[in-house]
Amino acid sequence: MIRKDYNSMILKRIEKNFDRIMPIGSIVAWASALTIYKSTIPQIFVFYNIIIGFIFLVLSFVNKRLTIETKILVTIAIPSIMGVLSFMDGGFGSAGLTLLMISNVIAVMYLSKSRSISIAAISIVIFIGLFGYSKLVVIHIAGSDSDTLWLIQFLVFTLYLFILHTVVYSIRDYLLKNIEELEDSVEKTFYLAYYDQLTSLPNQHRFKLLLREQITSDRGGFIVIFSIINLSIINSIYNDEISDRVLVHITEIFNKIKSNTEVLSKISGDEFALWIDTEDLTTFKNRMTIYKTYFDEKFYIPKMTKKIEFTVGYTKHHAKADIEETFHKAKLALTYAKTLQSESMVPYDETLEAVLRSDELIKERLSLALQNDEFTIYYQSKIDAITREVVSVEALSRWTDDILGSVSPSRFIPILEELNKSVEFGELLINKVFRDYEILCEKYQKPLSVAINISPTHLLDTDFLDYIRHEIIQFDLLPRNVILEITEGIMIENFNEVSKIIESIKSLGFKISLDDFGSGYSSLAYLVKLNIDELKIDKSFVEQINKNDKIDKMIEMIVTLSEYYKLNIVAEGVETKEQYEKLLEFGCHEIQGFYFSKPEPIIANIIKT
Ligand code: C2E
Ligand code: CA
Ligand code: CA
Repeated sequence: MIRKDYNSMILKRIEKNFDRIMPIGSIVAWASALTIYKSTIPQIFVFYNIIIGFIFLVLSFVNKRLTIETKILVTIAIPSIMGVLSFMDGGFGSAGLTLLMISNVIAVMYLSKSRSISIAAISIVIFIGLFGYSKLVVIHIAGSDSDTLWLIQFLVFTLYLFILHTVVYSIRDYLLKNIEELEDSVEKTFYLAYYDQLTSLPNQHRFKLLLREQITSDRGGFIVIFSIINLSIINSIYNDEISDRVLVHITEIFNKIKSNTEVLSKISGDEFALWIDTEDLTTFKNRMTIYKTYFDEKFYIPKMTKKIEFTVGYTKHHAKADIEETFHKAKLALTYAKTLQSESMVPYDETLEAVLRSDELIKERLSLALQNDEFTIYYQSKIDAITREVVSVEALSRWTDDILGSVSPSRFIPILEELNKSVEFGELLINKVFRDYEILCEKYQKPLSVAINISPTHLLDTDFLDYIRHEIIQFDLLPRNVILEITEGIMIENFNEVSKIIESIKSLGFKISLDDFGSGYSSLAYLVKLNIDELKIDKSFVEQINKNDKIDKMIEMIVTLSEYYKLNIVAEGVETKEQYEKLLEFGCHEIQGFYFSKPEPIIANIIKT
């Protein structure tokens, strides 16, 4: 778990408020100047307040260049200075001490412990200094001439600082501990969601992620899926305990033979997947023979004499191919192997899948489609979980080719990436969505937010910011009505770079949503360091609502944490009433999914009303 301190956690969240304090500060200072001018208070304070008003004004212009700590220190320094000046004039009858107290409240709320204690110490020194001043320099400060009064006020002031610090720190520590505990549980539940509890092996989801991380662009390998033929028989003859031991034992054998670069996963109750990182068929077959000999000869479990048999499907994975697709091919080979009804090992073959469209053809057609702008956009609404009103729509691209028919964006978006056309496509998309915006608002009769999926390459493109800024001006849209959906995969690889880009996007006023949250295994504590506005809980989690207690618990915890981080939580892929009701119960803010609406073309949207 990532340990954090209260300050780094809180500062990001309050920065906006401090941005507002600067201009408000100058207005308040000038208003005070005016009030003092009309009162009997010495006129020198009119001058002080005018100066302070100017300081705040200047600061509100250079705001962006100041760190949040500096802003806080300024906000502490000004009432302190004013406090001292008022005290020097009016003694205990003035607002001097109150202003010093206000400075200390700000310090203890927003600064680190050491800094706020220093501020308290400085305040005490100032107090003593004022006492000295009243004795030595000026004989009389109104109402401050009694030593007993000084002593009482000193004790009260010190006591005040002590109580303030004790109370606020205990609240701060309590909050921090709570957040940490919650985050810890989220991390643990993440683990449970990604690893098989019995064998501690990564599950299917995690396996694919690991491969994506591990496979380099020039080296492929083989994906092999092992299915235990007779686990159900073992189950019926013996009991669950024995079959659990069988599974653990199989895992041990695999782990013993497995090299560091091979990846093992338990993908279902009786299936294991293995990644062997060689593209050479002979080397691969040799490895498989080694595995087979071990399983044939070395298998022994007390009370169980039956030999374990596997059906195996496998296929070669080319470094640049899609893991999902290779996995699918290996599964297909396994399905075929199972029909052979004996211990068999079957490679994937194209004939196994009658309609496998060739990559080359798609690439060719896709380039043409981009030239001729054959893409359309469907919009799917996100609704407010409580009121069920549409709050925003997500733009989803659609492409129907004359030869290939309709091709899913999950298929063509990665190919566009491979063709280096992501930026061109992304710009076209942004332009179309902005063009549609007015019609969308008319349809829903209110100013909606519109969400656009931004591919990693496009986000990292140096022209991205300029382009989107240009488009927003051209179509006269408010940036706060535009949500940019980005995926977490990109964060892990380019955290610092992405973090900077996000800051720039946010400073333009756009909103950022983290898409497919949970589909990768990244720490929540890490992700919220980015200044994002929204988390979209991945469909793969929503699917398991009411079926998997751990997932239910995790979603509930994410929603609870979102309150601390002021994040909007959207659940996507909501298909049933039961899922919706559970999400509502968890306190999820927005819902997206077929249960409420499918993606539709903008025209259909209009006709329906
Ligand atoms: P995504 O951003 O996670 O979008 C949600 C996907 O889930 C959409 O698939 C949507 O049709 C589908 N969906 C929505 N509700 C449900 C539901 O209740 N059940 C099920 N089973 N599915 C639901 P789609 O349109 O096929 O898009 C797939 C992915 O392709 C998107 O996932 C997004 O990552 C990407 N994509 C789509 N359009 C674009 C685009 O214009 N630009 C970029 N960069 N990516 C896009
Ligand atoms: Ca999305
Ligand atoms: Ca998504």
